[in-house]
Parts: sequence; C-alpha cells; structure tokens
Amino acid sequence: MTKFIFVTGGVLSSLGKGITSASIATILKQSGLRVSMLKIDPYLNVDPGTMSPLEHGEVFVTADGAETDLDIGHYERFIDATLSAQNNFTTGQVYQSVIKREREGGYLGKTIQVIPHVVDEIKNRVLNAGEGFDFLIVELGGTVGDIEGLPFMEAIRELRHDLPKTNTMNIHVTLIPYIAAAGELKTKPSQHSVQELRRIGITPHMLVCRTEQPLPKDLKRKLAMSCDVNYDAVIECGDAASIYQVPLNFIKEGILNPISNHFNIKLKPNMDKWSTLVKHIILPQHEVNIAFVGKYLDLKESYKSLTEALTHAGAHLNTKININWCDSERIEDVGAYEVIGNSDAVLVAGGFGHRGVEGKLKAIQYARENKIPYLGICLGMQLSIVEYCRNVLELEDANSVEFNADAKNPVIYLIDEFIDQSGEKQLRTHESPMGGTMRLGEYPFEPKEGTNLKKAYGNDDIYYERHRHRYEANPKYKGALEKAGMIISGESNGLIEAVEIEDHPWFVGVQFHPEFTSHLETPNPIILEFVNQATKNI
Ligand code: GLN
Repeated sequence: MTKFIFVTGGVLSSLGKGITSASIATILKQSGLRVSMLKIDPYLNVDPGTMSPLEHGEVFVTADGAETDLDIGHYERFIDATLSAQNNFTTGQVYQSVIKREREGGYLGKTIQVIPHVVDEIKNRVLNAGEGFDFLIVELGGTVGDIEGLPFMEAIRELRHDLPKTNTMNIHVTLIPYIAAAGELKTKPSQHSVQELRRIGITPHMLVCRTEQPLPKDLKRKLAMSCDVNYDAVIECGDAASIYQVPLNFIKEGILNPISNHFNIKLKPNMDKWSTLVKHIILPQHEVNIAFVGKYLDLKESYKSLTEALTHAGAHLNTKININWCDSERIEDVGAYEVIGNSDAVLVAGGFGHRGVEGKLKAIQYARENKIPYLGICLGMQLSIVEYCRNVLELEDANSVEFNADAKNPVIYLIDEFIDQSGEKQLRTHESPMGGTMRLGEYPFEPKEGTNLKKAYGNDDIYYERHRHRYEANPKYKGALEKAGMIISGESNGLIEAVEIEDHPWFVGVQFHPEFTSHLETPNPIILEFVNQATKNI
C-alpha cells in the first residue's frame, strides 16, 4: 500500500518547498524504496504551457509531452525518474474533468459541489499518482491560508482520514525569520500558520524550518510544544551552497528518525555517490566560462533545466561552470567579440519570438568562425542553420518563417503534422494559440555514425529526447547544406534533429531539449560532452 507524504507551506512563498519535497524523496529513494512525486498547483490555468515566462519561469516538458510546472524538473533531477502528465495537476484540470463529467451525465443529475465532487476528483488524482509506489510525495503549491488552496487541503485532510494513520504524513515548511534589530529568531509566524492548518483539520507531523541562522534548542522546543509536533521532528533548514546539498543537510539535521518512526520503517540511505557529486559542485577542481546567449536574462528561472543540466555536467567533470549571461540584444549593439570573446564555449538556448534573434546569429557566427565549442538548443539549432545558409551558402534572406513569414529561403519552416515512430500522424501535438501545432515530448532519433552526437550518446541505435517547438528545419535544404560542410548528424523519421559542422572541432545543434533529461546522477550526454569540450578549450 502506498504511503503519502503531504508537503504544505506556511508564512510566505519561495521557501523551497519543491527542493524540500525532492530532497525527502531522494532520501527515501536512496534507501531503496520506490518513490514518486506529485505537484499540485492551485491556479486556474489548465497547465503552464501558455503562461508567460515572466509569470511562471520554465515550462518543464515531460516524456509524454505534458507542459508542467518547473518543480517537476527538480523532482526528475533529484530522484532520477521519468515522470508524466499525472505528476502535476492544477485547479484548472480538476474543474475541467468535473465539468466534463457533469456535461456527460456522469453524476446522474446530482448537484455538483466542491465537497464532495471536486475534492473527490483531487483525491482520485492523488491516489492514481501513487499507484505502484511505496511512497508518493505530494507538494501543494501556494501557502496555507490561500483561498484557492482550500479544496486541496480538504482532500489532504480526507485522505488522512480514509487511509491508515501510518500511511500518511504531513510536513509543513515554514519560515523562522531573523529580526536583526531585536537580534532574534521569531517563531510566531510559524505558530500562526500551523494554527491555520489545524483549523482546517491538519496537524503537521514535522516542521521544516527555513532559517538564515542556526535554530537554538530552546526555540526548537518552543516550536515543538506550540505546534504539537515531536521535538525531533523540528528540522532546521538553512541556506545551502547547492540545492543538491539539501538531502545531505536533512540527514545531518536528523530527519531519518522522525520519518522512520512515523512510518515504522528502517531508512538507510546510501548517499555516497550523491555526496561525491555535491562535493564536486561545491569544491570543484577546475573551472570553465560558458557564454549563455539568451533573451530572458533577468529571468534565469526560465532556463532552470538548462542551468541545472550544466551543473550536473560540472559535477561529473569536477568543474565549476561560470555562466557568462549574454544578452542577445546587447550582441546586436556591440558585436559578439565584446560580449562572448573571453568564453571557453558558447551556448545558444531555446526561445520564441523575434527579439534578440540577430544577436544570437552573430554569436553563432563568432563561435563557428573562431572554432569555439558550440551547442545550440532548439532555436539555437534552427539559427545555426539560418546562419550557415546566410553566411556560407550565401542565401542572404534565409530565415525561419517564425521571423519572416515571406522569406524566399524558409530554411526553418512550419509543419502542421508530425509523423511518429509507427508512421501514425503525431498524437501529442496540441493546437497552439499562436497557430500551427507544437511538437511536444519525447521522440526517438538516430545519430549518424562518426559524428560528435554519436560519440556523445554512445552505442545504442536509438535515443530519446524531448521537444517543445513549432518549427522544423526544412529538408529541402538538406542537400545544399551537406554539400557546403554542414553534417545532418541526427534524424527522427525524416525530420532533421541535429546538425554539426565538418571543419569545426565541436559545433553541435540539436532540435530537442537535452536539458529535460539531465539528472544529477545521470547527466545528459550531449551537455556533458559540451562542457567537456569547453574544458579542453581553456
Ligand atoms: N521558436 C522555435 C520553435 O517554435 C524554437 C522553440 C524553442 O527553442 N523551444 O520552433
């Protein structure tokens, strides 16, 4: 029978509930248990796919093509698992299902209400996500006291009632602020947020206390007493040098005992490999500078998976990655040398929309001509083809139709239908409000023998990577590109998946998003090799 750990947040947002949840899951996973995770988002959007990066940060794409919250990415990276659409749901999805069922007569004419119908839908989704696992860690987005969170709180309360007592645990992540003027840590906000939880009918079994100062014993005792939790279940959580250090810190702070006691299980996590990787992140022996060319540079959260994937590669190569954030619009103004000239490698990330594109093209030209290791991801690959067509094939007006619908040479173009492995018309596209269809989720690709792509991915015949894009390289230009020295190094059912350049030490563009499959323990092969090439270029 699956055991459930519900993680709620108190006092304010941004306390790191996602990392807390993922860290607890990691400890259980490394103890040999089968663990999965679920994020519940109380907002009304059906998914974050159409939300602006300003609102939401990164949209994380699962293997089955769901556009999910960025916490799902943390979960996969920590527990080294492949999650799916059912590991993240929103109020929007819950209401969509309930209303659909009501329209279809599924409730047999009953009055549909938040309790029981909406809450039952939530409970079913939680139970389904836990099926087949020893543990499901459920993170509830938002903060206790939010109106939109109430149906979810009620579902948690009811599940606690429905299931055996030893099968559910509530962990509350809270803030213990330090008031400099008084020179004191304060417990009152946490007491109030736990009171609010208890008013709803949930008494937490554990408090994870975010604090910038060490928690003295008497304060822990006070929290235990006032919030009605065991003393050893008040866990201090200070700021960590790396998010991957948090599971190790939790173990140091004694999290194993209260969890083992609550569930009556033995926990012996093997954190040896994990600790070594964390050591390489915190105290690396080497260092590289990577130019990260993008346009949302004040919004680094929108590149979360990619920066984490670089960290994973760095951890495996015992190398610190200094990211040189390069605004593509600045490159348009001052030229590539000025902005990326002192970098060991150049990375052009994915993106949508015309802003900053010419700057990215300049960065690509610079990396190509100066033989600097280059990795282009999604838009970064599409633009490397545009750049090659313009400057090597001398097709001056070559462009993606995303940026010029009337380009005489539409080297990147819009296709409305994708064919999947079995030759069926693609199933996982969704109608995009921008027109066209998105290619989403995992697809197989075949790397060509002898290419850098093949060398990086090793010896399997077929590999899978995830997609999130609307445009594709136009196969009409394949022959001309190859003749001029561009190698089509990866293909997926006739679609161009990756390109390289013959007379360049390491220039790779990939249509997929390799960052979505990189985990701390199993870094993505092409990103690992890119960082490796950067270290050679120092
Ligand atoms: N804008 C491009 C497309 O839609 C690239 C998308 C991306 O980089 N994720 O195809």
